[in-house]
Amino acid sequence: MIKYFDPTSLKQLKTPVIICVGNNDTLLATAVGNIPFLFNVGSSVKKGVVMDVLYCSDITTTLVSVSQLNACGNRVILDRPDSHIVHKPSGRTVARMHLTRSGLFCLDASPHPSKVFISLAMSLQSLDINDLHRRLGHLAFDECKKLVYRGLIEGVDALHRWQDLCPGCIEGKIHQAPFHISNSVTVNKLHRVHSDLAGPFPFSVHGCKYFVIFFNEFSKKLWVYFMARKSDMLAKFMEWKAMVELQLGCVLQEFQSDNGCYGMIKSKYANQDYN
Ligand SMILES: [Zn+2]
Repeated sequence: MIKYFDPTSLKQLKTPVIICVGNNDTLLATAVGNIPFLFNVGSSVKKGVVMDVLYCSDITTTLVSVSQLNACGNRVILDRPDSHIVHKPSGRTVARMHLTRSGLFCLDASPHPSKVFISLAMSLQSLDINDLHRRLGHLAFDECKKLVYRGLIEGVDALHRWQDLCPGCIEGKIHQAPFHISNSVTVNKLHRVHSDLAGPFPFSVHGCKYFVIFFNEFSKKLWVYFMARKSDMLAKFMEWKAMVELQLGCVLQEFQSDNGCYGMIKSKYANQDYN
C-alpha cells in the first residue's frame, strides 16, 4: 500500500515495470520507493528499510524476492520453524519468517510509517484528473497531464480516472452570435404580429397558470392574456384577433411565433396564409 512508503523516496517510473505472478497474471508497477519496517529478529524488534520496492496499485500484499535479498548480500534460510534472513557481512539475523497455512513464507515484520510519513504519503496518492482540472481553474486536461508527468505539481505523482465532460467548460465555450440586422419593414397597422406562450407557473389568484402575448410590430403595442390551460391559447387568439381587426379596420397579415402557438393557429386557419 502506498501509505507504507517513505514519501521522500517514492518516485514515479517513467516506464512502468511489468511483473508476472504465479497465476500468469501480469501486474504493472508504476512507482518505486523504500518501505520502513519493524523486523522481529527473535529476541528483539529492529527498525529497518527495504529499498527500491516497486509500487503496484493492483495488489495489497508486499512480495519479497528471495533472489533480490540474495543479491543484496543476505542469506535466506527457509527451514521451518527457524526460517530467517542473515546479513552475510555481519552474520546477524536481520529478519525472521514463518510459514503460513497457504504455504507461503511471511516476514515477521510490520510497516513502520511515521505520522509525518503517512500524511505526506496521503498527499502523494494519485489524483482524480477531473478534480485537478477544476482545482487549476479548468485548465485543459492535456495541460494538467503534462504538469503532473513533468513533476511540476508538488504532492501529485499520478492521475487516475478518465476525463469527464466538464459542464462548466462546455457552458463557457458556448457563445451567442449577434443577430442579423433585419431589413423588413411593416407598412400597415396589422402587418406583422409576434406571439409567445409562457408557463406553467404556480396558480395565480384567478387560477391561471399560463399567459400568451401578442406584440404588434407596427405600433409596438403589447397584449397579455392569462389562461388556466395551454389549450385556451387558440380561444384567446381568436378573441384578440377579432378585437384588433375591428378596432383597426384591417386584417392581420403575418403571424410569427414558435411551434407551441403557431401549431394551434395553423391547424385552425389552415386555409389562410399566415407566415
Ligand atoms: Zn472545466
